[in-house]
Amino acid sequence: MELTVVEGDITAQDVDAVVNAANRAMRGGGGVDGAIHRAGGPEVLEDCVRRFPRGLATGDAGWTTAGRMPAQWVIHVVGPNHAAGERDRSLLTSCYSRALAVADELGAATVAFPLVSAGIYGWPLDDAVAAAVDTLRGTPTDVAEARIVAFNRRIFELVEARVAR
Ligand code: ADP
Repeated sequence: MELTVVEGDITAQDVDAVVNAANRAMRGGGGVDGAIHRAGGPEVLEDCVRRFPRGLATGDAGWTTAGRMPAQWVIHVVGPNHAAGERDRSLLTSCYSRALAVADELGAATVAFPLVSAGIYGWPLDDAVAAAVDTLRGTPTDVAEARIVAFNRRIFELVEARVAR
């Protein structure tokens, strides 16, 4: 698998699946979650309600349609809320490994990832980058490209440095 990094908006990525940093309720939220629901349109929420009536556990992943986005699927993951005291790192790494497993079930060859938990959920940025890069690299998968989408220059440079290590 090729691990790439771009700076930009995940909702605009021309990939098979985009990963959403969702919350347990899976009924929309702020940050990348809000952007994905806005870009995908109401079908994304409708599919969340239909397929995940009880939401999703922290550390787990599940898919819905991507609605109007260029991608075909959204793979929703729920990262630990560091700001609320959830500090179990295995719940963060499992977001990436579970997302790749769901991508394999779907037959998705290209998957775009945000930095899960690194925004509103307050996971320390350096470690969020390490968890993303190291887990994506270390997880066996049929995915051809995992693309980390950095929302700004600083995040881009941190991810690039970790990928180059
Ligand atoms: P969490 O609640 O898991 O912390 P956030 O959405 O608040 O999730 O933030 C996760 C990461 O996604 C942060 O690095 C944030 O800057 C970034 N982000 C927010 N919106 C977008 C977007 N449209 N595309 C890519 N990354 C985004």
